Amino acid sequence: MSGALVLFSGGQDSATCLAWALDRFDHVETVGFDYGQRHRVELDARTVVLDRIRSMNDWGDRLGEDRILDLGVLGKISDTALTSDMALATAASGLPNTCVPGRNLLFLTFAATIAYRRGLKHIVTGVCETDYSGYPDCRDDTIKALQVALNLGMKTRLVLETPLMWVDKAQTWALAEDLGGHGLTELIRTETLTCYQGDTETRNEWGRGCGECPACDLRRTGFERWKQLGKAASQASLSGCNPIPSE
Ligand code: ZN
Repeated sequence: MSGALVLFSGGQDSATCLAWALDRFDHVETVGFDYGQRHRVELDARTVVLDRIRSMNDWGDRLGEDRILDLGVLGKISDTALTSDMALATAASGLPNTCVPGRNLLFLTFAATIAYRRGLKHIVTGVCETDYSGYPDCRDDTIKALQVALNLGMKTRLVLETPLMWVDKAQTWALAEDLGGHGLTELIRTETLTCYQGDTETRNEWGRGCGECPACDLRRTGFERWKQLGKAASQASLSGCNPIPSE
């Protein structure tokens, strides 16, 4: 077994994970999930990103089959702000009411079934517990436990890869820049969609989105911090090249 299957939603994190996988593995396939999400329009962004990422580096030769799984039943059985028309708020549990219980457990389990059939060893997901929304199924321990359960239950040796687990959103931008330069960060900035409201019309410096939902807030803050870090680094390098002589 070799190669990778990337859980690709059409958002910033999973697009960065896709580039990360294309940089490492000779063969990469992708899967997306349609679960009745209110920002279902994110699925349209997938096609644009997949088309354009093929022309970067030698990634076109490595990028294989894409599929979207219909998990509409998840939207029907979960009562959350991400899968129904309710205002974004904090639930009694203390978690945002956008948290779809078990969503990533299901996604990764379905992905494992595909990876098993396709002979793909690595399953790549953009979950992160650094500056995240508190979703318990994004945590490192959850993913490690699920990897053990999947490998026992399927009698296989899959590896759940989480390249963003310990980086914040600013570092995610920096990672994308390392992997694919300005072309990739511009593709991610202009074409991926993270906004929970699915706002594709409002264009901001950090990308498309309403600018008000928690997902937009995380994305904007990370983008601004990444830009500030870039400015600080270039100023430091300039002052290093032109040291001011001491009196
Ligand atoms: Zn938004």
